[in-house]
Amino acid sequence: MRLEPGDLIETRKAHPCGSKEFEILRKGADIKMLCKGCGKEIWIERIKLEKRIRKLNGQRPEE
Ligand SMILES: [Zn+2]
Repeated sequence: MRLEPGDLIETRKAHPCGSKEFEILRKGADIKMLCKGCGKEIWIERIKLEKRIRKLNGQRPEE
């Protein structure tokens, strides 16, 4: 899965604030993303994140 800074994703599991939308800020083995609900920045392993993504820029990602 290609994740680039500026991409908008929707995750299967919501952030504690209730939002499921995040913006990719940095890519690498760890991804930095911004919660669109509360504005918090989160670091997450890319492998973990890819399993949690439901939509990438409004579309279902290719498996
Ligand atoms: Zn949040």
